[in-house]
Amino acid sequence: MPSVYNWHLGRSMGYPYEQAAPKEQFAFVININRCIGCQTCTMACKSTWTFSKGQEHMWWTNVETKPYGGYPQHWDVKILDLLEKANPNGQRWSGSPNGEALSPYGRFEGKTVFESANYVARGNQPNHVLGYLPTDEEWHSPNIFEDHVQHGQSKPMDFGKGEDLDGDKKHQAWFYYLARLCNHCSYPACLAACPRNAIYKRPEDGIVLIDQKECRGYRKCVEACPYKKSMYRGTTRTSEKCIACYPRIEGNDPECEGAPMETRCMAACIGQVRMQGLVKVKPDTTWMEDRQNPLYYLIHVAKVALPLYPQFGTEPNGFYIPPRWVPTRYLEQMFGPGVSRAVERYRNPDRELLAVLQLFRRSNQIIAKYEIEEGKKVYETSSNGKKFEMYDDTIIAFNRLGKEIFRTKVEEPVHVRPPQHANSI
Ligand code: SF4
Ligand code: SF4
Ligand code: SF4
Repeated sequence: MPSVYNWHLGRSMGYPYEQAAPKEQFAFVININRCIGCQTCTMACKSTWTFSKGQEHMWWTNVETKPYGGYPQHWDVKILDLLEKANPNGQRWSGSPNGEALSPYGRFEGKTVFESANYVARGNQPNHVLGYLPTDEEWHSPNIFEDHVQHGQSKPMDFGKGEDLDGDKKHQAWFYYLARLCNHCSYPACLAACPRNAIYKRPEDGIVLIDQKECRGYRKCVEACPYKKSMYRGTTRTSEKCIACYPRIEGNDPECEGAPMETRCMAACIGQVRMQGLVKVKPDTTWMEDRQNPLYYLIHVAKVALPLYPQFGTEPNGFYIPPRWVPTRYLEQMFGPGVSRAVERYRNPDRELLAVLQLFRRSNQIIAKYEIEEGKKVYETSSNGKKFEMYDDTIIAFNRLGKEIFRTKVEEPVHVRPPQHANSI
């Protein structure tokens, strides 16, 4: 099997195809701390792309309540279980999260879904990827266990509890909303498993698509995708998946005058928790330095956003700011070893991070670059013994064409309603 470089794992890994990378890569960041589980993103995608016959159970983006919710049901528990069997010595990481672009989270010493396939091959069928095919029942309830709470004291699911970070108490009872869509992985498992080569990754933006003319509905992609984001449609007997709203990414919407536009699920987010963009990548899929790109900043400079289940090995391009109230042990299984650092940074944001966090959902256009104009200090306090200062900086966002798309301030402006409209809605 060829060897490719996976920077999430901090090492090379086996993958059925040779190393390749697009010119730019579709990527996104979701701030879990602010998601309100309103499902507006879910419905924005559904009403745009999957409202037809045969697509009733197709939710290309969904929001599930963790730890119990999952669509399809128990998808992550099941794949983690398979990985555990393939890794008798555990899914371990060595080293520690550091500042290196080649291995920012340390090194994953276990086997990925590509490297474990032989351990769980079924019968004599050669498998390229470790996986399973969900049952029809598991696809039936897209929002099962909504708002169900995990209690820190309960057994047998003990995810850890107590004081994780200098005095920051983790909650005894907790849940959180995990918004998910296809990660347009750098090493897609769906693509690796397709016997007809019907799945391809676009060289211009890394978007992963299924060629509907080539697909024969073998469902190998459904079986292989560890995130279960490729779905089978009975009426056409083909598999379908998130298409990253590619007409919008290509800048075909008249509203943007040729500049790339954010996808439907990102642009519709009520909670203002989603930011999507395009990042420049090198031939080994590591990111080129692009200091003023907000995604580059959040993932590689501030390091507050982490990949979802990096140990699967697909190098997903969806990143999450982990929820600060949830036990670290549980989060580390989901987001890897960078969790403590990310939560700590989010709890005590510095001046630049506080400004960049204001960029979420102020525009439909993809932000290619930001600049900050410094303002005056407006607030000072201490949190857990650390000094916190807030400055009313102005942050300016530019699109791909270099045009300013908006500017906003750290301190939210207060508008006083004129007395003649005091009681109006
Ligand atoms: S998330 Fe799944 S469907 Fe999407 S690119 Fe990765 S492996 Fe393929
Ligand atoms: S990017 Fe577009 S197609 Fe993909 S989940 Fe979001 S709205 Fe649906
Ligand atoms: S629209 Fe935004 S806030 Fe609402 S569920 Fe989706 S990600 Fe969360």
